[in-house]
Amino acid sequence: MSNQLHETAVQSAISTRWLARSYHYLPTVGSTNDRLKEMLAKGSDDDPPAGTVVLADFQNQGRGRLNRSWEAPPGTSLLLSVLFRPYWPAKQAHWLTMAASLAAVEAIKKEANLTVGIKWPNDLMIFVVNEWRKAGGLLLEGSLSANGRLESAILGIGMNVNIPQEQLPDASTPATSLLVAGGRPIPRLALLAGFLQRLEAHYEVAERGKSPQATWVQQLITLGQSVHVTHTGSGQTLSGRAEGTDTWGRLLLRDGAGQLHTIATGDVTLRDRE
Ligand code: ADP
Repeated sequence: MSNQLHETAVQSAISTRWLARSYHYLPTVGSTNDRLKEMLAKGSDDDPPAGTVVLADFQNQGRGRLNRSWEAPPGTSLLLSVLFRPYWPAKQAHWLTMAASLAAVEAIKKEANLTVGIKWPNDLMIFVVNEWRKAGGLLLEGSLSANGRLESAILGIGMNVNIPQEQLPDASTPATSLLVAGGRPIPRLALLAGFLQRLEAHYEVAERGKSPQATWVQQLITLGQSVHVTHTGSGQTLSGRAEGTDTWGRLLLRDGAGQLHTIATGDVTLRDRE
């Protein structure tokens, strides 16, 4: 029962006011972000409202950033996308990823009682034995109106819930799941309900103009560490100490010469890993 994520089960498990009240369950889909995009593109009377959720038990074209793939065996994970219509300035878009990663961290702590954190900018990590391993990721895709406002934003999230060790993907950042890290299966429905509840609350705070940054930064595992950051577009690498983030969630990196860099997006590796 607790493994069923159909409409009726989810509607009776959640206590949100608007988030996920429009909910679409699919056994299989290419990508939940793409499906929501298609629903938006139709632009008819049944335009999906803010808070619409598309959740799938399997994605055959799951994506990370830069068209990297997201792999998860059927029925083992939480794979979902949420539609927002924030009309925020574009600069504020990352607040959605921040709000959602905070919601995920809190829900995982509550349901699985694991040591969990965020790897800047968009990975969910769990500490297993002696290292941080990747247990989830977020992908935000937005579209701007003519005046540069965030007209719609689709927030995709994948969480490795009950993936057994032998089915974890072989990725450059070692992967784990809540099952592998905690040694027991976690009910996906309870985790989903906890996540959606917290996401609605964090979004509403952000909607009132308050950045999630102060709370979010406390969950960053990268803080105070010596890191390399490879810029997502140019491939250029900067090295230094991760000192914090600004209110927009951009990483503040102090290089060896003492200069402070503000980085909007990139891939982080810890220097002592090499
Ligand atoms: P990055 O960690 O580089 O930001 P993304 O967030 O874009 O990466 O996620 C895609 C990457 O995550 C893939 O290139 C792959 O290495 C890894 N990956 C794919 N599926 C999973 C999974 N279920 N768990 C952990 N890592 C995964």
